[in-house]
Amino acid sequence: MSVSTITAAAERSVLQQVPKQLYIGGEWRDGAKGTLAVEDPATGESLCEVADASESDAKAALDAAVESAETWRAHPPRERGEILRRAFDAITAREDELALLMTLEMGKPVKESRAEVAYGAEFLRWFSEQAVRIEGRYAISPNGKGRLLTMKQPVGPCLLITPWNFPLAMGTRKIGPALAAGCTVVVKPAQQTPLSMLMLARILEESGLPGGVLNLITASSSGEASAPLIADPRLRKLSFTGSTQVGRSLMAQASEHLLRLSMELGGNAPFVVFEDADLDAAVEGAMIAKMRNIGEACTAANRFHVAEPVARRFAQRLAERMGSMKVGRGTEDGVEVGPLIDAQQRTKVSELVQDAVGKGARALVGGHAREGTGYFYEPTVLGDVPDDADLLKQEIFGPVAPVKAFAGEDEAIAAANDTEYGLVAYLYTRDLNRALRVSEHLQTGMVGLNQGMVSNAAAPFGGIKQSGFGREGGPEGIEEYLESKYVAVSL
Ligand code: NAP
Repeated sequence: MSVSTITAAAERSVLQQVPKQLYIGGEWRDGAKGTLAVEDPATGESLCEVADASESDAKAALDAAVESAETWRAHPPRERGEILRRAFDAITAREDELALLMTLEMGKPVKESRAEVAYGAEFLRWFSEQAVRIEGRYAISPNGKGRLLTMKQPVGPCLLITPWNFPLAMGTRKIGPALAAGCTVVVKPAQQTPLSMLMLARILEESGLPGGVLNLITASSSGEASAPLIADPRLRKLSFTGSTQVGRSLMAQASEHLLRLSMELGGNAPFVVFEDADLDAAVEGAMIAKMRNIGEACTAANRFHVAEPVARRFAQRLAERMGSMKVGRGTEDGVEVGPLIDAQQRTKVSELVQDAVGKGARALVGGHAREGTGYFYEPTVLGDVPDDADLLKQEIFGPVAPVKAFAGEDEAIAAANDTEYGLVAYLYTRDLNRALRVSEHLQTGMVGLNQGMVSNAAAPFGGIKQSGFGREGGPEGIEEYLESKYVAVSL
């Protein structure tokens, strides 16, 4: 389906295919609290209603995950992997409809949704291959007398909570390794974007996943649905992707049972450009790091620190590129910037820009919300941003690029690290020694070296400081769902 052939009928058809109930114990059922509406952020209109889970629905989902835990962990790893691989194939074959669905609920242009479908599916393929590579160790004790046997075992039933900004990939990044490791799960997607995950549950069901292994609840009150599960000692792990604020509150709840945690939280990524960088490549990378996902990515470049001699040129070129982007509904031809997720997010972005301009920043392009329906905000570049501007400290989560000049390498590193967050940093330089030196000093879990995107299913994605802990993807990803058990052997 090309973008020009997306019709209202195609939209209706794709929405009709989505199961809109809770998926518990292999059955689709209504929510005890009725339904909740899913909105199109480009129009503000309701797309459809999905089931609204109560506390007892959530408990039923955990009951199902607990009941299935023993049989799933005993399921041959090869077969676990083959189910994931079949789901990868099915998602790939249905890329068009999944991409359209994602655009409808989240707003990003269809081309970007396609990229997320491919990226999201890749976690299922990667972990289908990791399922058969879960290994332990056999070692000789240092005194030579005993043997040390280390085995890896699934942690047990997991609760997986995901955000709205990557409606599919944030799910597969957890579901892939959890199922590959032999864990059963309860998944709770964001209420703004449950449709992609509901389709994923249907695809996994059709790919042969036994009932009860994956359970999916959608809920208008996340706290009400998740708190009783976190308080239940049968739950063995919580993997959360979302804001640092909610992450902290979940961590406090989880402390009661010392629940094992993975926390993929907010970011405030610096994008550092040295004077020796290839400026064309840096602008290209900046466009990706800033504008992918309408700026609504945890990895979005939040601050541009550019060496003084090239700062003005960089800002002007970025402003030209961002100013020429077509803003509109993600289903329209040629659109590169969709709406923000909701009115609250647009207000937050507007306020951050007003604060910076009020303190002396100059808007080189944009600087305003777009009038009319939908939650659109103009691509914006700000120059001469003062140190006390709030958007240097907070996650913007929108298409706004503040540019600041720096005088030398030490100043660049200090500016980049001047944040409580530590997810990712981007670095542009042609000097290899500087690239490695600065990468070592950046206080982040990931560095994009001369590239504006780091996401890759085969790499360990995650942060430090207030961006959380734990890694998703790569060989590390499955370890989050495995325990090491040591058996002391006497010969
Ligand atoms: P959020 O408000 O923290 O919500 C994330 C998820 O938590 C949603 O499913 C939400 O459900 C649920 N939730 C909210 N309050 C809860 C509570 N009291 N108890 C249990 N669950 C609760 O974050 P968001 O606005 O959806 O996502 C944006 C944030 O995610 C940004 O900060 C971004 O940086 C971060 N993020 C991080 C990564 C990473 O890998 N580090 C990746 C993507 C996004 P409702 O929808 O019902 O509120």
